[in-house]
Amino acid sequence: MKPVGKPGRTGELMPVEVALARLLALAEAAPIRDTETLPLAACEGRVLAQDLVSTLDLPPWPNSAMDGYALHLADWTGEPLPVSQRIFAGQAPEALARGTCARIFTGAPVPAGADCVEMQENAQVQADGRVVFTQSLRVQQNIRPQGQETTVGEVVLAAGTRLGPIEQGLAASLGCATLEVIRRVHVAVLSTGDELIEPGQPLGPGQIYNSNRVLLCSWLTRLGCEVLDAGILPDDLPTTRQRLVELGDVDLILSTGGVSVGEADFLGIALREEGELALWKLAIKPGKPLTCGHYRGVPVIGLPGNPASTLVTFALLARPYLLRRQGVQAVEPLTFQVPAGFVWAKPGNRREYLRGRLEQGRAVIYKNQSSGVLRSAAWAEGLVEVREGSTLAQGDEVGFIPLSEVLG
Ligand code: AMP
Ligand code: MG
Repeated sequence: MKPVGKPGRTGELMPVEVALARLLALAEAAPIRDTETLPLAACEGRVLAQDLVSTLDLPPWPNSAMDGYALHLADWTGEPLPVSQRIFAGQAPEALARGTCARIFTGAPVPAGADCVEMQENAQVQADGRVVFTQSLRVQQNIRPQGQETTVGEVVLAAGTRLGPIEQGLAASLGCATLEVIRRVHVAVLSTGDELIEPGQPLGPGQIYNSNRVLLCSWLTRLGCEVLDAGILPDDLPTTRQRLVELGDVDLILSTGGVSVGEADFLGIALREEGELALWKLAIKPGKPLTCGHYRGVPVIGLPGNPASTLVTFALLARPYLLRRQGVQAVEPLTFQVPAGFVWAKPGNRREYLRGRLEQGRAVIYKNQSSGVLRSAAWAEGLVEVREGSTLAQGDEVGFIPLSEVLG
């Protein structure tokens, strides 16, 4: 296990890029290499373990892009051509008899000897059944050539590609019924805090409902992880120790809460007794405190407990880490530059990820950006990135990370 790095000096904040680079380096030092072979339909959200190499030309044979007529262009002199065969998709045509054309439909194989397809809208069928073409014709027009999309031996999807509906469809088009994928990442999710109770129970004095647990468990499931829901850890040391031992063998311990500076940090104490844990103060808002380390060799990431902080740090740091453990290269979400539809007068020393939306192409932000307000994210369509040290006037460019980018 690589050292996780020392916390910055007091007052010194770690830039988001540095935190991400460190987490990705840790992920690369602990790659998950075990694989399993799954039916194609079960591969959604999983990561391809081997390059997918085409064993086919796609399309396997030249086929028609139109409903119309196939002909040998040199046979077209202006004299009507008789129709010698009809070719539907799924049929194997005979070679085209010289001096004739073939009625052909979209997706049907172009017969040997034909080098042109004219769409039916530009063809006139005479009373005697022969066909004339009303427009000028070009060789290969409306023919999708063999191997247009893929040829045998080409890498169509590289190892490390995340699989979704499009990749599943592509693999199906190549005839793959199964794919070899990286096994699921096993993640133990821990919520911490004496104030937490689970929904469905009456709320006692001083208590709040645990929202991070379900938020993280469903998000992790979407990411293809296997979630070990380890429930709520009370703020006491012996129980915390005991519950950690019970976690057993997982790939990551992901906790929320208990990392605010000055708090009695029982999880941190228990983790450090059997491992290593660094507290990073990130130049990010919401979400300043983040812990990172290992417990008995199992990697640990501790996210801050405020729900909006949990969301932002998971999206920007934990999610890329989990993907990189599976060998995914493109782990950072797409960020679009959009004009701000709001004013930002006070430059901060942390990068802000405001919960916002696009309205008429401009980023607008939720009225309450407190890190405790998860409703801001439910209202939002994305995270609006305001760089540290910057102010914004209406129309200035800001980064916009669609939540749909990071939620899956
Ligand atoms: P902490 O980091 O434990 O000091 O928590 C920071 C804030 O987040 C406190 O207001 C906690 O009550 C709140 N919090 C911590 N964990 C959760 C959770 N699982 N669900 C909802 N709120 C939480
Ligand atoms: Mg707490």
